[in-house]
Amino acid sequence: MKNFKKILAVVLALALTAVIFAACSGGKNANSQASDETESAAAADAAAISTVTDGKLTMATNAAFPPYEYVEGDQVIGIDAEIAAKIAEKLGLELEIVDTEFDSIIPGVQSGKFDMGMAGMTVTDERLESVNFSDSYAKGVQVIIVPEGSAITSVDDINENTKIGCQVATTGSIYAQDDYGVDAVQEYSKGADAVQALLSGKVDCVIIDNEPAKAFVAENEGLVILDTAYVEEDYAICFNKNAGALEEQVNEALKELIADGTVQSILDKYISAE
Ligand code: GLN
Repeated sequence: MKNFKKILAVVLALALTAVIFAACSGGKNANSQASDETESAAAADAAAISTVTDGKLTMATNAAFPPYEYVEGDQVIGIDAEIAAKIAEKLGLELEIVDTEFDSIIPGVQSGKFDMGMAGMTVTDERLESVNFSDSYAKGVQVIIVPEGSAITSVDDINENTKIGCQVATTGSIYAQDDYGVDAVQEYSKGADAVQALLSGKVDCVIIDNEPAKAFVAENEGLVILDTAYVEEDYAICFNKNAGALEEQVNEALKELIADGTVQSILDKYISAE
């Protein structure tokens, strides 16, 4: 009888342990299910992302970079404006474009003044220290614009004594300063101003992205474009490093627009095949 009591106690203890164990692991499952539900609800709910102005997607650009962004009438139009409008539509937000200086875009994104920057902006390691970038949606390459008949016929003719015009804070300016020294480079607030300086003989050449170069040469007589040895650049949208869900959702929308051919058709609309 004594033994029977002992066995019963052991059995009961084991049973109790099993019950406690089941309860605990059951609780664990219940918790993780709850957090999964919260996550998927957040992802599905675009309203959960916070933007600078409620209901709006505020994009900073420098509308002096045709065909990516330029002013027509009182509107900023171009490749970036159209892609951003499609992204905003997918997110259920109204697109607000702020036209600012190129070198104010990253500081404004960092300080939380803008939700994102989209300005034919090249992804560079240095910029990645200040902002995050989306997937790339287009390519660019730096080229040299010279007056017809210029002594500069290739990149090899450029040296520290060449007066090089560039748009302020752009990769063209950064590369030119790296390669030929700070003194060789004259920076202008707009690429078009650098081109005017070229036309009036203040600079010997302009180093700028290929698509705006084509637009500036088409608008002004007597200029030609030389190819450079500079590598292809990736254009992407920049975000505050803490943009979190906003960055994820914008990038997700961009991915979809790339996958379904929308981005390519916008590029084709503005850039004619050579
Ligand atoms: N792609 C170049 C850069 O990111 C120029 C961009 C621009 O002038 N809008 O520096």
